[in-house]
Amino acid sequence: MLKNLKQVYSPVDFRKRGHELIDQLADHLDAQLNDENTKTLAWHIPEDERTFWIDFLEKGDENQLFAQIIKRITVVHNPKCIGHQVTPTAPITALTAMMSGLLNNGMAVYEMGMAPSAMERVVTDLLCKKIGYNTHSRGFLTSGGTLANLTALLAARKAKVQSDIWNEGHKQALGIMVSEEAHYCVDRAAKIMGLGEKGIIKIPSTENYTMNTAILEKELQKAKTSGIEVFAIVGSAPSTATGVYDDLSTISKFAQEYDLWFHVDGAHGGAAIFSEKHKHTVTGIQYADSVVIDGHKMMMLPTITTALLFKNGNHAHATFSQKADYLLIQSKDEDWYNKAKRTFECTKTMMSIHWYTMFKMYGEGIFDDYVTTLYDKGKTFGKIIEDSANFELAIKPNSNIICFRYIDKNLSEQQLNDLNSKIRQYLLEDGEFYIVQTLLRDTRYLRCTVMNPFTEKEHFNRLLSKILDYLQ
Ligand SMILES: *Cc1c(COP(=O)(O)O)cnc(C)c1O
Repeated sequence: MLKNLKQVYSPVDFRKRGHELIDQLADHLDAQLNDENTKTLAWHIPEDERTFWIDFLEKGDENQLFAQIIKRITVVHNPKCIGHQVTPTAPITALTAMMSGLLNNGMAVYEMGMAPSAMERVVTDLLCKKIGYNTHSRGFLTSGGTLANLTALLAARKAKVQSDIWNEGHKQALGIMVSEEAHYCVDRAAKIMGLGEKGIIKIPSTENYTMNTAILEKELQKAKTSGIEVFAIVGSAPSTATGVYDDLSTISKFAQEYDLWFHVDGAHGGAAIFSEKHKHTVTGIQYADSVVIDGHKMMMLPTITTALLFKNGNHAHATFSQKADYLLIQSKDEDWYNKAKRTFECTKTMMSIHWYTMFKMYGEGIFDDYVTTLYDKGKTFGKIIEDSANFELAIKPNSNIICFRYIDKNLSEQQLNDLNSKIRQYLLEDGEFYIVQTLLRDTRYLRCTVMNPFTEKEHFNRLLSKILDYLQ
């Protein structure tokens, strides 16, 4: 038995396999970034993929295992991978991810992650500063935008609702206001918190898919009249489906006037705080009580690396505290270094080391380069579609998310929806490009997110001509 375990922990074996794997991954990166003939994925239906891995477990060559994994994934580093909002990781953060995997400090308490806990404070302080917060602001890292949004809304409820729901449970009807275009996880968070369907006050969006702030007052009064105590309003920066930003400035003024918690879901585009050219998209973010930014979306970090930042750091400590007198906590002993008091997770990965490494190795300017490049490319692709007779945009891109569809005057809306779905399925099975689709007000759109700074105009043109060739 011990002999087997010794083999598992063999440094010799680790060194050998590690070097081989790095070579394999570097070759993969090189081919995917530089060889135009590579595909973004080799499509298999789920049952075929499952059969493959059942067989492989039984009789596959163990020396082929890593190579097979690399071969059978969707390649986020391929410039023709323009589907979901997952970043092509900066390769150096694959190394820090490996460090986190091997060193495996659990982060719940300071002793189990001294360096990464302190680095987490440094990184979140930097993010707070970039948002425009002051020195009372604090943040922490957590496992994904979904969990971060839930945590922020829990903090909001603790801060704004008089009764102690955390300890005593719900009595009154509570609600939050959010655009109908918000990410589904906000809806899910509200349901988990027991707000129910009627507690999610969905604000219709304008024809440009941004929250219609002109009707906020009316919607709030309507909720109040039906006995709902609204405690928070969520702005999307931007919304996931369309990439359109809500007007954060106007929402913040509304929140202030009615004493609501203002939360910004910047999971995708909060990183625009780093872009000199595009930071106007998040004007007003500095007034938010809490902000979520996903590092694994617009900041080149591995999944999952998310920051949740609070304008007033005390609130971060209050979310899960048993006592309501949290406002005293910071003045006594802030205890920023024992993370689990503030995060949903107990154990979590050493995610701060990815962020810190990027700041240290490349400087914060690299995030400006990344966000600016991608948003510019989103606009470039938007222009190409605008100029094309066969395609139309859902909305002029606000960011690196582009929704468009094939059009043909002779077809009905239903036929166009079916046809655009068929196009997307064709592209998936073909595998050269990877794009997704979305439904906006009953219209089917093809949806692209430019996440790779090396996706060029030629790729966009080639995608459109490929679609037209298919339809011939
Ligand atoms: C992606 C996204 C989320 C969810 O974040 P995860 O990290 O995937 O959990 C939430 N909100 C918005 C606006 C997003 O784009």
